[in-house]
Parts: sequence; C-alpha cells; structure tokens
Amino acid sequence: MYWSLALRIFALLVCALLVTAADYYKVLDVDRSANERDIKRQYKKLSRKYHPDKNKDPDAEERFVEIARAYEVLSDPEKRQIYDRHGEDGLKAHEGGQPFHANPFDMFSNFFGGEQHQQVRRGPTSVSEFEVLLENMYTGATIDFRIRKKVLCDHCRGTGAASTHDIHTCSGCGGSGVKIVKQQIFPGMFAQSQQTCDQCGGRGKVIAKQCDHCKGQKVLDQVMGLELEVLKGMPEGYEVVFEGEGDESPDWEPGDVVLRVRSKKEKGGWRRKESSLYWKETIGVDEALLGFERNLTHLDGHVVTLKRDAVTQPGFVQVIKGEGMPVFGESHHGDLFVEYNVVLPTQISPDLKKSTSLMSLWVCS
Ligand SMILES: [Zn+2]
Ligand SMILES: [Zn+2]
Repeated sequence: MYWSLALRIFALLVCALLVTAADYYKVLDVDRSANERDIKRQYKKLSRKYHPDKNKDPDAEERFVEIARAYEVLSDPEKRQIYDRHGEDGLKAHEGGQPFHANPFDMFSNFFGGEQHQQVRRGPTSVSEFEVLLENMYTGATIDFRIRKKVLCDHCRGTGAASTHDIHTCSGCGGSGVKIVKQQIFPGMFAQSQQTCDQCGGRGKVIAKQCDHCKGQKVLDQVMGLELEVLKGMPEGYEVVFEGEGDESPDWEPGDVVLRVRSKKEKGGWRRKESSLYWKETIGVDEALLGFERNLTHLDGHVVTLKRDAVTQPGFVQVIKGEGMPVFGESHHGDLFVEYNVVLPTQISPDLKKSTSLMSLWVCS
C-alpha cells in the first residue's frame, strides 16, 4: 500500500518533468516581447557558454541542446507564433511528431561560421576611461554604473513607422532603391545611368505615417545599468568589454562598450606599480634613532606591523614581502615598499640638547 503510493507519486513527478518542457523564453533568458536581435544575441552568448567543447559541466550538453531548440523555435516567426499560441504540443503537431529537426552542433557551426562570411555591419565601439578605488582593485568588487545609449524604439521595433501598414513600397523606384536615369548626350543619343532613388533615399520603402513614440527616429535614448566586475589585482588600463552594449540601430549590429579600468590617484595615499605597493610613513626623530613598532592599516583593513630596531635614515625603504597587490590571475601578492620620512623637531629643549650631545659622544666613541 505504502509502496504503491510512493511509486505513483514518483511516476507523477517523472511525468510532470517530461510534460513541462522548458519555457523557451526562459531558456534563452529573454522577454516574451523580445525581438529577433535579442534572441539572436542571447543564443550567441549562451550557446558559446554551454558548448560541450568548452564547458565541462556534466549538464552543459543538455543545456546546449535546449538552447539550440529554443533558438530554433523562437528565431522562426512561424514556429514562434505556434509556440506562443499552442505551446510545445502545438509545435509537435506542426512538426509532425519529430522531436528535433536541427542538429544543435550543425546549428552552432552554421551560426558562427555564417556570421564571419556574411560581414555584418557593426555599430561603433565606445571606449571610456573608468576610475575605481585602489581598494576595489585590491579586494575585487562589483560596481554598478550607468550608460546612456540609443535603443531600437519598442513601439515600431526600429522601423520608424506608426504601424506596419504605414510602410509602403516606394513608388519612385518600385522598391529597388535605384532609378534608371536617361540622359541625352547628343540629339537622339541617350546614356542610361543608375542613381539612388531620391524619394526613398535608396531604401526602397517610404513611411506614410511616422511612429509617434520615436518621431520616426527609429531609436530612443535610454539609460541602462551595467555591472563592472573588478577583478583582484586587475592591471591598470585593463579593458573590460561589454559585448553588443553599444548604440542600437536598424542598420547595424550594436558595437561594444569598453571600459578601461584604472585606480584613482589619491594624494598622500597608496601608490601602485603593477603588483608593488608604495606607502610613505612619517616617524619622529626618537623613533628613527631608537626603533619603533607601528600599525599600518592596509587597503582591505587588515593591519600590517611596521617594526624597526635599527636606526632608520630619512628616505630609507623597507620591503615587506607579500603585502603588495594581488598578482592578477594568481594567488600570491607582490611586495610593499614603505619609505620613511623623519620629522626633525623645530626646537629642542635644553634637556634634550644635553641628552643628544651625550648620545653623539656615545655614538662617536
Ligand atoms: Zn518608433
Ligand atoms: Zn525609391
């Protein structure tokens, strides 16, 4: 009795898993209103990430196959419509019960192979300098920042027209974008030449009514939040690339946003050169002569003990191994160089004068 119940629950769970095929929008991590470009971009990103040649995770292959299937459906307007209305079952009926048409690996190589031949136009890549605190480069950090960029208008999806009915084939060129112009060179003699159609600017289409939302501009200004991952020990001027986050346009694939990351220069504070750190410590004349022990708070708050028993000359540099910056991509640190500055008193009391002269006698003898 108990067992049969347990078995039934188990069977139900298995059934549920089989029936609820993954939501293709979720698989590609896109919105239900995502346009062709978003879908393509996500496929590009995820299929690379989960390709079993690269990703050795045991679930990667399954994910990869799922991503290919999601792309196969969502990139095909007909299949996408069926899927939106009738779900996976509707698709199966449409595809005649064949579970998979495209080989996910062929699909991948076609996608990336085809991309190189087809010379897609790409929008400009913007490069900006980005300053972070040296502390962030020491410990590593995630920093949110905002960029202003042009995105395709979501009302007209980048056509610039109020509706699809407002896009007409140009009557000037019949949609070809060029006009054949006959010129008379001599009486009775004509030369034919092709010219870009002046009515549509070579596009072959004219817009009768412009989109109200973008005023026919096709794109809108948008402020977007992005996340910069500052890695431990990141070199100065390191370039972090945000692929495809540049300005959108119906005429091109968006370019990249590149941040060149540097640490802020702060006066009198820590200085960095590659994996070395530099610090200036000021000590009194008594400490310079008699030795001292001091605490220095490091970039992440841990305390480094500065200790000297011998006489410290002004400008002396003490090297503290392993207290520098993390070496990028490795697990050890560079060194810390502490330079000592000795403050001499402006006046000395008669007592100190006496003891100093005694000391100099003692030092000289
Ligand atoms: Zn618009
Ligand atoms: Zn035209």
